[in-house]
Amino acid sequence: MNQPSIYGLTLDQLVAWLAERGHKKSRAHQVWEWLYRKRVGDFAGMTDVNADCVALLDEHFVIRTQTEHLRQESADGTIKFLFRLRDGNLIETVLMRHKYGLSVCVTTQVGCNIGCSFCASGLIAKSRDLSAGEIAEQIMNVQRHLDQAGQDEKVSHVVVMGIGEPFDNFANLMDFLQVIADHKGLAIGPRHITVSTSGLADKIRAFADTQLPVNLAVSLHAPNNELRTRIMKINRAIPIEKLMPAIDYYLEKTKRRITLEYILLRDVNDRVEHAMELAELIADRRKLATVNLIPYNPVDEHSQYQRSEQAAIMAFYDTLKKQGINVSVRLEHGADIDAACGQLRSKQMNRPEAASPTA
Ligand code: SF4
Repeated sequence: MNQPSIYGLTLDQLVAWLAERGHKKSRAHQVWEWLYRKRVGDFAGMTDVNADCVALLDEHFVIRTQTEHLRQESADGTIKFLFRLRDGNLIETVLMRHKYGLSVCVTTQVGCNIGCSFCASGLIAKSRDLSAGEIAEQIMNVQRHLDQAGQDEKVSHVVVMGIGEPFDNFANLMDFLQVIADHKGLAIGPRHITVSTSGLADKIRAFADTQLPVNLAVSLHAPNNELRTRIMKINRAIPIEKLMPAIDYYLEKTKRRITLEYILLRDVNDRVEHAMELAELIADRRKLATVNLIPYNPVDEHSQYQRSEQAAIMAFYDTLKKQGINVSVRLEHGADIDAACGQLRSKQMNRPEAASPTA
């Protein structure tokens, strides 16, 4: 059972794959509808699809490669899922409820090599990239969970901010984005999708060149190299003087807005002088940039970091505002569960019976 997930194929790829085997385009569309609109659990369930086509698909692909290992539900409706992959690895996916809809945060890699010093995910080095199908399947799993609840709810937004650096898995990310945005399938509008990067400058440029109207968020987290290197070791390889020109290239090329993520760590990067320095750094981009302040969620694994005082958060916010910078403070989701990215997985991976791959 090592066939790839069928969710990794874009509609064009499915049409081409079936055409090479003598099946019409309309059949590919029929299969597509079964996958994404009727959300069938196995190929045999595609009851009105030609039997030869069903057998062919069954021989070469699988619909489900993941099983639910654990689920935590928060009082605010946030649900954190741990899915087990076929190779035994665990990945995290989170469903969040907002006023504007339901968003799912997906994982793109098993572990992460970027090594942000505040992040529970970064504690476990990357062992492999997820395929486009494995990323898309997370959304299908969550959508099936919603289907079963019977409230007629639909995933409307996707954030690629889970475990991993999405731009370090660029080709699979691009296929994934095409799959979920396809208007005949899940039809998640590109403007409802946000990809978050730690700041891989070359890939920011490549992403701009694709002209995909998907939102981009860049993790800045500090206004100068000394502090940013302390928080994110990737800054050694890609310092601010390399990152900012890539951001400028993106803004110029796409004319789209960008979000700059800034995690607030008490007495590390949350002082008014840091806000002033940040305002100066991004002053020329202020029309197209929004700073998203993220109050830190303490995790056991990183006891050196604490959450900023509320007064410090507000002082930081007010300073940016006064400098004419667009700024928001991220609302918390799932504060009563293992809310920080990678926290649930990290805890589970530390349990010997959960950590050992099964295949
Ligand atoms: S914050 Fe994102 S990029 Fe940084 S270590 Fe964690 S998962 Fe990787």
